[in-house]
Amino acid sequence: MKKLLCPQCKIAAMYLKNDLGERLLVYVLEGGEVVPKEEGVSMEGFDLTEVYCLGCSWHGSPKRLVKR
Ligand SMILES: [Zn+2]
Repeated sequence: MKKLLCPQCKIAAMYLKNDLGERLLVYVLEGGEVVPKEEGVSMEGFDLTEVYCLGCSWHGSPKRLVKR
């Protein structure tokens, strides 16, 4: 599955945040599925409805990412 990209800076590296402010590196796949960068890492407790770009200040719904 292809990774979707930040609508601003066009990179695929995103992260999630949890209530403690911790970050978890993820990608968003075509279709909107959020997956951890490292296979097998639990996303429990992280908010999957908002992703943050590692490359710029953009954040928002995974549905807003673009194909290129
Ligand atoms: Zn970005």
